Amino acid sequence: MEARFEAAFLKALKKHASIKKLVKRKVDMIIENPIAIGEPLKGNWRGFYSCPVKRNFIIIYLYCEVCRKKGDNAVVACSDCQDTPDNTIKFVLLGPHDDAYGI
Ligand SMILES: [Zn+2]
Repeated sequence: MEARFEAAFLKALKKHASIKKLVKRKVDMIIENPIAIGEPLKGNWRGFYSCPVKRNFIIIYLYCEVCRKKGDNAVVACSDCQDTPDNTIKFVLLGPHDDAYGI
């Protein structure tokens, strides 16, 4: 599994440094089993997955194998999907539930 971290994710991680360990543990779990642990999002976020870190605090990510199966890469902002291996996970965003959806 190949993990990539988007700039927005890293920036958010800096901002929420107090829960860095929690996030790291969750990231490892997602890398191990991205589909089982995450919840597919709908609407504007179709194709993305979310996974709670703690109450009301989520990680949003993409799993390229799934982008392709669903044909979501046409809709989803998975910019370089064509160039990534199937087993790529992109960590897109991290934050309080409402903030994360509000971008
Ligand atoms: Zn993709």
